Amino acid sequence: MEWIDICVNLTHESFRRDRDAVIERAAQAGVRWMLVTGSDETESRRCLELAAQHPDRMRATLGVHPHHASQWQERTGYRFAEDAAHPLVAAMGEMGLDYYRNHSTPAAQRHAFEAQLELAADLGFPVFLHEREASGDFGDILARYRDRLPNAVVHCFTSDAAALDRYLEMDCHIGITGWVCDERRGQDLQALVPRIPDARLLLETDSPYLLPRTLPKGLPHGRRNEPAFLPHIAEHVARLRGASVAALAARTSANAAAFYRLPGSTA
Ligand SMILES: [Zn+2]
Repeated sequence: MEWIDICVNLTHESFRRDRDAVIERAAQAGVRWMLVTGSDETESRRCLELAAQHPDRMRATLGVHPHHASQWQERTGYRFAEDAAHPLVAAMGEMGLDYYRNHSTPAAQRHAFEAQLELAADLGFPVFLHEREASGDFGDILARYRDRLPNAVVHCFTSDAAALDRYLEMDCHIGITGWVCDERRGQDLQALVPRIPDARLLLETDSPYLLPRTLPKGLPHGRRNEPAFLPHIAEHVARLRGASVAALAARTSANAAAFYRLPGSTA
C-alpha cells in the first residue's frame, strides 16, 4: 500500500535534527509522496529547497498561513509568482482564515487570502486552504474565485455539516487529519467523515502538529507527529467509512496524485 501525505510541515524547527530519519520512516511506512507546506515567505522558499533535495518524494506549496497574514506584502506575491515557475511547486497555500486564534487581524487575513487566491487563479495552481471558525467569510471569499481555480482542498477539515456541504457544493476536496482520532473533540468530525465522496477525500498528518491520540503506546514520538503515522490515521478513517484500508490507500493516493499533478497520475 502507498499513501500520500498532503500536509507535512517538514521545515518546522522540531524536524531540524532528524529530518532525514523522519523522511526515511515515512518511506518505510509506505508514504510515497509528501506535500511540504509553506506557511510564510521564508518557509515557502525552504519548502521548495527541501523538495528540490527529494524530487522523487516531495512537492512544495507556497503560501502565507492566516496566522502570518499580517506579513503579506505585494512583494510576497511577486516572489511566489517567480518561485511558482519551479516544476516542484504543486500548489499555492497554505492560505485561508483562522478566526479561532486571530494571530493576524481578520481584515489582514481576508486581504492575504484574496491576494493569494487571485495569484493562484492567474497562475493556474490548485490551492491548499485552512479554515477554522471562519466558514462564513471563508466560503463567501472562496466562492468568488472557485471557478478560476483548477482544484481546492480545505485541509484539516474540522467544521460542521453545513460548511462541509457548502465546500463540497463548490467542488472542494476535503483533507482529514489525526483530529479524527481524538475520542473527545473528534466526535463531530467522525460523524461527517462518511459523507465525504470517495473522489474528494485526501489524507494528511499536518506533522508535527496533531499527533493522533490513538497511536499505540510505546512509539517514540515525544509528542511530535510525523508522516510515518499517516497509515494509522487512515485505518481510523477506513473504519469510519466502512472501507478497506487498501481501497482507501488506492483511492486517496489517486485523488492526491491527480490534485497535485504528480508523476504517474492518470488524471
Ligand atoms: Zn492549517
